[in-house]
Amino acid sequence: MPEAPLTFAQIAGQESAVAVLRRTLADGGDSGSFLFTGPQGCGKTTTAWALAAAVSCLAPRIDPYDACTECDACKRLSRGVNPEVSLVQPAGDQTQIWQFWDREGKPRGILQHALPYSPSIGRKRVFIVERADTLTEGAANSLLKVLEEPPHYVVFILLAPHAGRVLPTILSRCRMVRFGAMPLAGLAEWLADRHAVAADRAATLAALAQGCVGTAQSLASSKTAYGEIGVCTDAGMALLSASGLGVLRCAEALRQAAKGLKFLGDEPPAPAAAAPAPDADNTKERAGRRQMGAALDLVAVVARDALALSLVGPGASIVNEERRSAILAVADRRQPREWITAIDQIAVARRRVDMNANPAILTDALAVTLAASAQR
Ligand SMILES: [Zn+2]
Repeated sequence: MPEAPLTFAQIAGQESAVAVLRRTLADGGDSGSFLFTGPQGCGKTTTAWALAAAVSCLAPRIDPYDACTECDACKRLSRGVNPEVSLVQPAGDQTQIWQFWDREGKPRGILQHALPYSPSIGRKRVFIVERADTLTEGAANSLLKVLEEPPHYVVFILLAPHAGRVLPTILSRCRMVRFGAMPLAGLAEWLADRHAVAADRAATLAALAQGCVGTAQSLASSKTAYGEIGVCTDAGMALLSASGLGVLRCAEALRQAAKGLKFLGDEPPAPAAAAPAPDADNTKERAGRRQMGAALDLVAVVARDALALSLVGPGASIVNEERRSAILAVADRRQPREWITAIDQIAVARRRVDMNANPAILTDALAVTLAASAQR
């Protein structure tokens, strides 16, 4: 546990979102409902904790607005023992009504027992709904009234990848704050400065994280991530070079490499006051899907590198700098037009992962399709 809670000052790469929030708080807008939208791993959850700290802090800094880090509310938040700040994560694939309100057999609704009471530790009660896009219709409808007119001591912070995935009735009741990916060069520089990552590796990590600062940070701070990514990238190169009977063997190797992406395998830890833990099977299944999705993202990176090399030549700028000569050999196997087809085929498979397709069938099918498109 960090000694101090997260503050706005610590948020990297989200200057405009943080500026909007600080301005809102300085203007007295420290209650009501917020909706943060932006890609996964770009800093929404981190910023939600910083906002929670700032609004519950007993002696906030004013210019610029931020948590003091030293009052009782701040200290309890940093130790994970401030019951007035709650994180609600999906139970399985959905965020359900019984997570908010008591239902028969599930008397643990988080709002039921907290909403009527003004806070006694900090200035606010804060409820962070980490995946507002997974609210069931029932759960969403049950929140409408409190989102529209919450008690003055309550702040809701809803997070979602896109506004389009949130019910319009919820959307209209929240102040929306947009989060975006960082420019790759800026993110690489930040990784090199803050995480002491060598410059060429920082550029690779920034590109692999697609500009998402949270993802880049977890890549940089994991001792094993870079090696695991390397195994997956090699499996991707083999898959893109495979032909004949080797194709299915390469698909199997990619599945194994995906399972080896251990740094993606665990759910983020939930603070003490969070919703009941989702059941183990679901968690494992979601972790598997996240790993398969990331493995296909890595294959796509190899294919885009190969396209760049086949279009521009051996000096082209690529992500996998350390594998330049090997990818150059892979690049020779297709014409640029065929690489574009291959990238499309990988993107189709990637979407199917999110749609719960069977990973074995999906990767076998991708391998066969890729081999066929290379022989045209
Ligand atoms: Zn404080």
